[in-house]
Amino acid sequence: MTTPTLGLDDVSHAFGGRVALDHLTLTVRPGRVTALIGLNGAGKTTALRALAGRLRPTRGMAQVLGHDPADLPADVAARFGQAVEAPLVYPELTVTENLWCAARLHGMPRRAAAPVASAAVGHMGLDPWRHARARTLSMGNRQRLGIACATLHRPTALILDEPTSALDPQGVVLVRELVRGLADAGAAVLVSSHHLDEVARIADEIVVLHAGRDVGRLEPGGTDLEQRFFAMVLDADTREADTRDANTEAQV
Ligand code: ATP
Repeated sequence: MTTPTLGLDDVSHAFGGRVALDHLTLTVRPGRVTALIGLNGAGKTTALRALAGRLRPTRGMAQVLGHDPADLPADVAARFGQAVEAPLVYPELTVTENLWCAARLHGMPRRAAAPVASAAVGHMGLDPWRHARARTLSMGNRQRLGIACATLHRPTALILDEPTSALDPQGVVLVRELVRGLADAGAAVLVSSHHLDEVARIADEIVVLHAGRDVGRLEPGGTDLEQRFFAMVLDADTREADTRDANTEAQV
């Protein structure tokens, strides 16, 4: 069996008394796109933050390319890409300058960074804003820039939090092609999303998260994805309520 490129091993996390992740185990292997879907507050961003090294879980372990994400060696960080929550762009730098910085931060030599940054501007349809400061961009274009910064070094492990939430239909297609292209070249990709139709188009596997728990997998094919999703969530709620009732009866 190949080593998971992205992994969560029995991860739980609570914010104060609120459980955000509950014994979540997840692996993404090279060449696969895994989508994490769930209702608002299901724990998707918390799971991705643990993988991005921005949150140390209360219990369990996250790993990226075999390492603790909070302490990635430089050569491993150079193979990792992430856009989780707000895009990591510098508001006062222009689009091209941001991309150049992202290339350098991912370990690209100075001479390679400029052409790679320039190509990324074109790939993400940002030509008209090439010299605009990031803070002046629309939300969708800022999202395009964040995704470009996370992917221009062609990572072998990539995590994207709701990458199409602010994008127009053209941007959605660009991100779809980008994500599929990276996975087809061997990258392990984990994306969170609310858009079941979009997820069905790019994912090899769909993990349903509910109340911080993995409540099952959905096959990306088929037409009734939404229905299957809600049935899974309802079933998880019913089982949870039955367990609670049984525990209460046992205590009485
Ligand atoms: P959405 O689809 O709305 O973005 P999500 O699935 O990404 O939701 P999370 O943001 O991971 O969900 O939140 C999971 C739970 O953890 C929620 O109950 C949320 O209120 C809580 N939570 C998340 N971040 C914090 C925080 N910094 N402090 C306190 N509670 C938090």
